[in-house]
Amino acid sequence: MNTMSKTLIVGNWKMHLNVQQSSLLVQHLHDLIKTHRNIEVVLAPSMLSLQPLSLQIDSRRFSLAAQNAYYIDEGAYTGEVSFSMLRQLVDYVIVGHSARRLYFHEDLEMVRDKVAACVRNELTPILCIGETKREHDAGETKQVLGDQLTTALANLTSEDMEDLVVAYEPVWAISSGEDFASHIVDKPEDVAKIARYLRSIIADLYGQFIAERIRIIYGGSSDAENAYAFLSTPGINGLLPGGASIKPQEFAGMVAAAERWQHAKLKAKAKP
Ligand code: PEP
Repeated sequence: MNTMSKTLIVGNWKMHLNVQQSSLLVQHLHDLIKTHRNIEVVLAPSMLSLQPLSLQIDSRRFSLAAQNAYYIDEGAYTGEVSFSMLRQLVDYVIVGHSARRLYFHEDLEMVRDKVAACVRNELTPILCIGETKREHDAGETKQVLGDQLTTALANLTSEDMEDLVVAYEPVWAISSGEDFASHIVDKPEDVAKIARYLRSIIADLYGQFIAERIRIIYGGSSDAENAYAFLSTPGINGLLPGGASIKPQEFAGMVAAAERWQHAKLKAKAKP
């Protein structure tokens, strides 16, 4: 089975939970979430919790992601952690999250360099792209997504693209921060159109085969209730919840929705 047919659920814990609280959450998640061969569950705790959690997690059940890293491997960059330092500690790194773009002024070129550094260090980028409310209301969504995606991929070869994950994260449809005040839930049919559009850009750059295989996950607000609707959206291979990922029952409910979705797919395939 290729990674594409797996459902990917990535919990972005953002700047919540200290080391002890993170460890407690993982204990709960171990009780609630079992291994499923068609589902990959990724936890993205704070940088500080990555090392202890790497020793605590059952790696058959959970993978780890960092929420950010710096694109230069080593040097006098006080306060930063490089992708090379994360090698062998995590599998994934979230790159270009809207909070990074908005609060830490990460521009298109910095996100591009981070994606390249991530791949260079044999880590899988979860590249977040998404339009703000203003851009959405002005009808600029496609233009913004096109610019973000094309720039971020600028230094990648077809081979580099094999594992990459793109998270479509409409900034107006996530729950925290100033730009997010309007918090409206996206419609799965609109998300399907965006996924198709993103795959068409990737097809132009890397060909149809890669465009069809690349994992695109939905990074707007999701929870146990709406997870199934987004997971069953054509062209969507998983979810990137924020707030819901630090509530054990809620997060486990999302993984359960992924199980139901996988089951429904298998059943549909088995039909004569
Ligand atoms: C996010 O920040 O990517 C996100 C989806 O957050 P939330 O689920 O809290 O809206």
